[in-house]
Amino acid sequence: MPAKPRVLVIGGGFAALETAFLLRMRHHDDIDIRLVSDRDQFLFRPNSIYVPFGADPDGLLVDLNKPLRRRHIEFERGRVAEVDPDSRLVTLEDGERFGYDKLVIATGADTNAGEIPGLAEHGATIWTTDSMLEVRRRFEQVRDRARAGERQSVLFLVPPNNKCSGPLYEIVFMLETWLRRNDARDLVDITWSTYEHGFIQAFGPRLNDLVTEEFADRGIDGNLEEVATEVTAEEVRYADGGSRRFDHLIAFPPYVSAVRYPGLDSDDRGFVTTDLGTRLAAGRDDVYVPGDAGDFPIKQAFLAFLQADAVANHIDAELRGAEFDQPFDSVSMCIMEMFDKATFAQVPVEQTGDPDQPVRVRPGANGDYKVGTSPAWRLGKKMLGFSVPMRFSAGEPFHAGKAWQAMDVGIRAMSSMLAD
Ligand SMILES: Cc1cc2nc3c(=O)[nH]c(=O)nc-3n(C[C@H](O)[C@H](O)[C@H](O)COP(=O)(O)OP(=O)(O)OC[C@H]3O[C@@H](n4cnc5c(N)ncnc54)[C@H](O)[C@@H]3O)c2cc1C
Repeated sequence: MPAKPRVLVIGGGFAALETAFLLRMRHHDDIDIRLVSDRDQFLFRPNSIYVPFGADPDGLLVDLNKPLRRRHIEFERGRVAEVDPDSRLVTLEDGERFGYDKLVIATGADTNAGEIPGLAEHGATIWTTDSMLEVRRRFEQVRDRARAGERQSVLFLVPPNNKCSGPLYEIVFMLETWLRRNDARDLVDITWSTYEHGFIQAFGPRLNDLVTEEFADRGIDGNLEEVATEVTAEEVRYADGGSRRFDHLIAFPPYVSAVRYPGLDSDDRGFVTTDLGTRLAAGRDDVYVPGDAGDFPIKQAFLAFLQADAVANHIDAELRGAEFDQPFDSVSMCIMEMFDKATFAQVPVEQTGDPDQPVRVRPGANGDYKVGTSPAWRLGKKMLGFSVPMRFSAGEPFHAGKAWQAMDVGIRAMSSMLAD
């Protein structure tokens, strides 16, 4: 590598910022870091689940200009149009070009409701904060009509190729609690319909058991292995010929890559094929793809952090001529909001190669596979929602340094008491 290597990071989300800030923490001035993003704000997407219930979407945003300036990271606002890995050039939509020695592609995922005819027209979908505001409008309608004595049905739908079903599970539980608290639950029939073989399939049998129990306790009709193919104004139709009627449909559409990179090997959804441990793009030694943009089958902010750490560590090891010994270790962690309580899960997963069930809990994970439900876990969720934006607005990585060590101790202490 040249004396002062140029690292170019594309994206302004979890994976991009974590990589850029962690690299800068390790290398004060011996690398040039440039970050290109189409927005000059970071969106803390996990807390957008609160928007349907009244949270202000602006409260989820962190302005990027100040923290990037503070860390001497050159910021370029623009949309990346093309990456030419052979000539090491990135071209923006306005024609501007940047060269690099190391490229980090962290442009994330997008959803594609259009894959299921009728879904965009007849359902409310979750993804952007605007779409969450539309869900809010529908939930308020459900509440108001129920209070006026009208019976209604709300159908929640996870179609095939959605790669992050957890947030929709949070929203169904939150809606159930919210309706109860608003004296509007009795006249609302809530049904859950997913293509998965188990509820929150990626997180294994313990989450499936927990959700099954919660659905039963809350009077939610949960249904597995329902492959949606079409949506009309009144019903969802399925591959086996069945259908489900609804008054309101709330869906989390299939995932695709936010940006396609024809110069790099990718899967059929545009996610770049990577080496698991380093997040290097297949066949490349200078292009990394942490976070949702890569082909790891579960798309999650916590996994994006771990992948970004691996990328920063790999670049750091190369710069120092040291051995790379901290590969990405796919141990997922999440806290699932329900309003009256929350569920914590720590799940070591491994890839199976089976598209129908692309990950499973690592055999022998035993004590490392932890699940717990308690109102106290809501505090953990709040802590994460506070500390990630705070760290990024200070120009610091989230998953490193003393702040993370303190948080890690807190989570471990909580999980030793409130999860097993
Ligand atoms: C409702 C909801 C709730 C969620 N809750 C959780 C949770 O509780 N826990 C959890 O771990 N995960 C959660 N997730 C998943 C999590 O948000 C994603 O996995 C995470 O955002 C992925 O991070 P990323 O950096 O890879 O991509 P993103 O955060 O999507 O960032 C991509 C970045 O690239 C930029 N970009 C895109 N295209 C271009 C372009 N052409 N040029 C330049 N820049 C571009 C975007 O503006 C953005 O800044 C949730 C997701 C949703 C939708």
